[in-house]
Amino acid sequence: MSVQLMPTSPNRSGTPAATAPESREPGAGVTPGSGASPATAPVSDDPQQSLAARRRRRFGVRSVLRLLGAVATLLSLIVCCASAVFWARGLMAAEGAVARYGTGFISVSSTDGVVVTVIQRILFADADAEQSYREWADPYGAVPWNHWRFYVLNDTNATPAMPDAVAGFSFQRLSGQGGRRVGLRGVTWSRWMLQVPHWAIILVTCVAPAVRLYRSHRVRRDRLEQGLCLKCGFAMGDVYHSCPVCGERRPVST
Ligand SMILES: [Zn+2]
Repeated sequence: MSVQLMPTSPNRSGTPAATAPESREPGAGVTPGSGASPATAPVSDDPQQSLAARRRRRFGVRSVLRLLGAVATLLSLIVCCASAVFWARGLMAAEGAVARYGTGFISVSSTDGVVVTVIQRILFADADAEQSYREWADPYGAVPWNHWRFYVLNDTNATPAMPDAVAGFSFQRLSGQGGRRVGLRGVTWSRWMLQVPHWAIILVTCVAPAVRLYRSHRVRRDRLEQGLCLKCGFAMGDVYHSCPVCGERRPVST
């Protein structure tokens, strides 16, 4: 009986310092001397502990990276599918969305097999110029200039495809003086326009999902050949009908 009160873990030196934080094994949350049962003694081949070790590993750096990779692949797949849908829709009618903040905006339009992104900024020589511009653009004070504003664009106000595109690609940087015709001074605008064809977006965004699909197919095939658990890779041999680690059932052998 008294043996169980000792810190008997084989990988520990048995010094009093073993009660320091590193002794906080999962399942050993009881204080020493409070009648620690044999079940709480950390033994390396204890299935309880191997489960805890796996849980700890699940939150390691590699698993975080793997999770980020999975999320990125999923986003890539979503963009890929969305691009195909908007490609088809854009052949019938242009559509898009614009986000405005202050006097600038970012818009994305889908039309005629391409996506046109526009970023426009209006620069002012001084505060008076900005004030007179806002009074001209918003005479009733209805625009919440200091908030983000989102609007949907349709066939009448979406950005049309750029005329001088090469294989659907185009880029333009334009700038100029603004508001002269209406008597505004000190107003300059600058605009970036980028046009990318839908097929290019689909081509780029389908790579990660395709690679992932191929890899998972290969891993599954290899595990099947080697008699490993299809889900977690545990070597089941001829012993188990279902995986003792994850519970996955052995596939019916042919
Ligand atoms: Zn398994």
